[in-house]
Order: sequence, then structure tokens, then C-alpha cells
Amino acid sequence: MGLDALLNRMQGRESVTPVTPCYPAGVTAKPAPDKACTLVTPVTPQIINSEPANETPSQQEQADLARLVARVCRAYDCHDAEISQAIETALADYCDALTCYTDLAKQAGMTLNDDRRMCFECAELSGSYCMAARRGEIKGADRRYEPMPYQPKRCDKFNAR
Ligand code: SF4
Repeated sequence: MGLDALLNRMQGRESVTPVTPCYPAGVTAKPAPDKACTLVTPVTPQIINSEPANETPSQQEQADLARLVARVCRAYDCHDAEISQAIETALADYCDALTCYTDLAKQAGMTLNDDRRMCFECAELSGSYCMAARRGEIKGADRRYEPMPYQPKRCDKFNAR
């Protein structure tokens, strides 16, 4: 199932596009004053009201959203190119996308506490190649190792971008 089909199915909307993926009715384009859009994760365990409502999401928040989008898309068998596009679209509209993809993750029965990372988040990924493997640092891996960028994993050589 492609990303568009996934989002159409989940929301029952025909007008869903990759640019306006799946925002439920009643969700505004702006963050709620109480920052209710903040994803609850082990890193951000509760809603914090001490910051201005329209603050730009931090790098960590953006990384968390990108990982969430990738996981949701993977759960629905989206292709790598679709996942990449979905991440880009989501980061351009952080708050609504966070609401949307958190909903989708819950509907799919996914846990939000998955601490595995993906190669697309790793500074060692250059093009499609793993530079750590190229240096021979990943035991058992070919030096031309091309990891799946959106496959959750635990890797000793993970190096956050
Ligand atoms: S070091 Fe590990 S996480 Fe990073 S790109 Fe290579 S295989 Fe992926």
C-alpha cells in the first residue's frame, strides 16, 4: 500500500495529498496554546507550558517526528521514496503532522516508546552506503554495505546527525 492510499484509507478522505496528508477535521494549522501537540516520548514525557506556543520545534523534536513518520509509513508498507517525501512534508507542518502521525501510530497499534534508530538518522549514512561499514567497523558487514534507511535497528556505530 502506498502512502497516499494509506492516508486516504485512514482518514476516509479523497482530498488527501502528500502535501495535506491526513489532518483530522477540527485540527487547526497552528499549535494549541498549551502545546498539546507535543509528542509524549521518553525524552519529552509530559506537556510543558513554559515555552511560547509558536516556537520552532527543536532538532530533537524534529528527529522524533521524522522517526515516527518513518515508522508509521513502514507499518503500512510505504516505499522508501514515499517515506522520505512524507517526512519532508511532515517537518514542514510540524504540529499538525505530529497530531496526525501520533493518531495513525495509535490506530496501527504501534508503541511510541520504541528506542531503535534508523540509518536515515545516522551521520554514517552517505548516499546509500554506511561509512562505518566502509571503514570495517561493523563486524560481519561488507565494506559496500547499503543498509535499509528506514529499518528500525540497534547499531553500535549509530551516530546521530
Ligand atoms: S553506522 Fe549503523 S546506524 Fe549508522 S548507517 Fe551504518 S548501519 Fe546504519
